[in-house]
Amino acid sequence: MTDASKLSRTRQTDVIVLGAGIVGVSTALALQQRGHAVCLVDRNAPGRETSYGNAGIIQREAVQPYAFPRAWQAILRVAARRGNDVHYHLRALPSLVPALARYWHASAPQRYGPIVTAYAALIRHCIDEHAPLIERSGAQDLIRKSGWLEAYRTPAAFEIAAKDAKEVATTHELRHAVLDSAALAAQEPALRQPLAGAVHWQDPWTVSDPGELVARYSALFEREGGVFVRGDAETLRQQGSGWTVRTADGDVSAEHAVIALGPWAAGLTRTLGYRLPLFVKRGYHRHYEVAAMPERPLLDTENGILLAPMRQGLRLTTGAEFAHHHAAPTPVQSERAEMLAADLVSLGKPVEAKPWMGARPCIADMRPVVGRAPRHAGLWFHFGHGHQGLTLGPATARLLAELFDREPTYVDPTPYDPRRFGN
Ligand SMILES: Cc1cc2nc3c(=O)[nH]c(=O)nc-3n(C[C@H](O)[C@H](O)[C@H](O)COP(=O)(O)OP(=O)(O)OC[C@H]3O[C@@H](n4cnc5c(N)ncnc54)[C@H](O)[C@@H]3O)c2cc1C
Repeated sequence: MTDASKLSRTRQTDVIVLGAGIVGVSTALALQQRGHAVCLVDRNAPGRETSYGNAGIIQREAVQPYAFPRAWQAILRVAARRGNDVHYHLRALPSLVPALARYWHASAPQRYGPIVTAYAALIRHCIDEHAPLIERSGAQDLIRKSGWLEAYRTPAAFEIAAKDAKEVATTHELRHAVLDSAALAAQEPALRQPLAGAVHWQDPWTVSDPGELVARYSALFEREGGVFVRGDAETLRQQGSGWTVRTADGDVSAEHAVIALGPWAAGLTRTLGYRLPLFVKRGYHRHYEVAAMPERPLLDTENGILLAPMRQGLRLTTGAEFAHHHAAPTPVQSERAEMLAADLVSLGKPVEAKPWMGARPCIADMRPVVGRAPRHAGLWFHFGHGHQGLTLGPATARLLAELFDREPTYVDPTPYDPRRFGN
């Protein structure tokens, strides 16, 4: 596209979408498909932040969002920093307490049950919403349809997990198989030692380069007439009856703006006067050379490490780190992951000099925020996808686009409504 034609297109924009991660790019595509002229703005290239560094699973099985542990033994285990699944910065805790207290509150069984019902109603569409985008963007080469493995080292933990998996699978119509030690070893010849067993979730699709998937979706958006420009979302301001943002191609104005900034949504929404229970769970990954790649992603569940086969090498991703979003990296979980994963597969050299760090954009009630901003005309919120943003981006984008066009929605939007926080 020539600069002149790009400039004239930015002048005819109906909607500015801020943030070109999986959520923003999916939003841009969903609105474009309904005939809106969309300008997508990011300070970086599409799909280079959180949406780049995840484990690449389109988690059809993730009907239960991660709850705050309620059992005291589990809380004490985390507090004592035993285990590798959770880490925290002590100095960050005082400022995190309000959001974490709400997270704990929302995780009580009587409140968590309805959250699961709402979440499951959305998650069930994740593959159907990705599938046409994968096809239209020519990203089939990045996708495998053979599920992932939730593996256990100890028989006691495996036994409980197998029972739970059966119950969840029956309730939510999920395909799964329970693999004993021998079946797991046969299915994953790259494993160096026998494990107790695994639950094989068979519905999920996996992505061998999630950042590239987002880049292909974004290229599709541009091919179909959308405009992507570099710009700083923090410059968003209300002007007349609409919104203006400063970009490398000059000011872009439109009647509507969508904030899809993932973990950075906290800053802009606070500037606009909203108090939302947002926090981040940071996570790390690093790629390694391996002689034999696992066939599919494998979670070493008791250690909170995921071994994900990627184009760049075997990606070891870590669990949650409770810390300030912008505090310096403390990749202790990543270092332990390297040691622990070396028991499981024959790990070669790391590909990068140091681990990548990202931040899962979390909301205290475990549900993304999707819909009209309560106090600003023409402003829309679309963020807070936590552990499942790659999974849910296209599904919540469809919901947002249906709300935008005041159409009947394909899932109940109430659990995701930004007004639920009383702003
Ligand atoms: C280790 C790890 C493993 C994960 N594994 C999975 C998984 O297997 N499956 C799954 O579904 N999810 C997974 N997730 C979660 C998932 O990655 C996130 O939920 C998702 O990427 C969030 O997408 P997003 O578009 O909201 O945010 P992002 O991808 O972070 O996009 C936000 C965009 O906003 C831009 N931006 C920020 N500030 C500005 C500004 N001032 N001006 C302009 N642009 C700005 C950024 O450049 C970025 O492109 C994982 C996350 C981590 C950390």
